[in-house]
Amino acid sequence: MTERTDLAPIRAAVRALCEKFPGEYWRRLDRERAYPAEFVAALTEAGFLAALIPEQYGGSGLTVSAAAAIMEEIQASGGNGAACHAQMYTMGTLLRHASAAQKERYLPGIARGELRLQAFGVTEPISGTDTLSLRTTARREGDHYVVNGQKIWISRAEHSDLLLLLARTTPREEVKSRASGLSVFIVDMREAMGNGLTIRPIRTMMNHATTELFFENVRVPADNLIGAEGEGFRYILSGMNAERILIAAECIGDAKWFIDKAASYARERVVFDRPIGQNQGVQFPIARAYMGMRAAELMMREAAALYEAGKDCGAEANMAKQLAAEASWAAADMCIQTHGGFGFAEEFDIERKFRETRLYTVAPISTNLVLSYIAEHVLGLPRSY
Ligand SMILES: Cc1cc2nc3c(=O)[nH]c(=O)nc-3n(C[C@H](O)[C@H](O)[C@H](O)COP(=O)(O)OP(=O)(O)OC[C@H]3O[C@@H](n4cnc5c(N)ncnc54)[C@H](O)[C@@H]3O)c2cc1C
Repeated sequence: MTERTDLAPIRAAVRALCEKFPGEYWRRLDRERAYPAEFVAALTEAGFLAALIPEQYGGSGLTVSAAAAIMEEIQASGGNGAACHAQMYTMGTLLRHASAAQKERYLPGIARGELRLQAFGVTEPISGTDTLSLRTTARREGDHYVVNGQKIWISRAEHSDLLLLLARTTPREEVKSRASGLSVFIVDMREAMGNGLTIRPIRTMMNHATTELFFENVRVPADNLIGAEGEGFRYILSGMNAERILIAAECIGDAKWFIDKAASYARERVVFDRPIGQNQGVQFPIARAYMGMRAAELMMREAAALYEAGKDCGAEANMAKQLAAEASWAAADMCIQTHGGFGFAEEFDIERKFRETRLYTVAPISTNLVLSYIAEHVLGLPRSY
């Protein structure tokens, strides 16, 4: 499955932008655990972050394949799109389920870069992957909802104006169906900060700007409820296939970076009077990593094609995400091995990318949950949880 040629100019433009943000830029941020504000501003100004926003709201109205190409090129250039990918992930929920008035209120500002929608609040410390057990509540009081609870691993909250929040609006015991009773809100964190919302950063093994959120009687206007009350879990699920495709693209970009870096080094590094890449013990792992990346890329393209045709792509999107996350991690490991001791030196960027790409077999969905999805929905095996 070859890629559509119309994506080539987008890829070239993203590459050109990323060249202005070389390894040294990312290394400094990594050391300081600082947010790549200049990089995100440049991407926004060039319109790349508004790729999925329809033209009528000031975006470029591109396809998920185009958005995937943008994310892949950022990773393949040695950068880290995790600083800003949520704006694309959250778009599925907003475009499909927000009202016309909500779209009018938020999308033009997001497209212009004046409003940042970079935070997505689902995970909680106790319920973890079991989203339907989440405990954060939103109780209706007149023309507001009052939010109480705690979220964890909410990335970029300190660098976002808006948060897409999933909270319980009907107690679990009172809902008719398992998946009901949760609702999605747009929370304006500029108003919530100092009015019950506390953000606590969590330092992690890579530079990811992730945080813990505490809500104490945070008042959210009822106008900020997305779609119907109680249907939020379905809305979040409906955006997940696009999210899986985009994450797959990021992992494929990472894998390409590692493979490129390893192949160049193996061609040039001479030990025992010959390039190390002349040894099958060095070249085979690189070839294997390449095959893994290409297989994931084909699955990602299949998922994107189904998505764009409006067909069900749950299985393909999940498989693409899993295969790509495994391919990028295998390529990362291979790249360190190929470089010997230099793989561990900061200035080669490999150890940084190695830490960054490790995330994707855990988040935004972990390996076991993808495998469970395939077992249950493709193979007809009994649900295991
Ligand atoms: C850096 C980072 C950034 C993140 N950003 C965000 C964000 O912006 N917004 C957000 O909402 N979340 C975010 N997350 C959360 C992420 O999506 C979760 O960490 C992930 O889904 C796993 O959930 P958990 O950590 O609660 O693990 P748990 O649910 O506690 O699971 C622990 C392990 O047990 C396994 N497991 C659990 N139940 C089963 C089962 N029934 N069968 C087999 N295995 C099982 C899991 O696969 C996992 O390996 C982020 C996480 C990290 C680390």
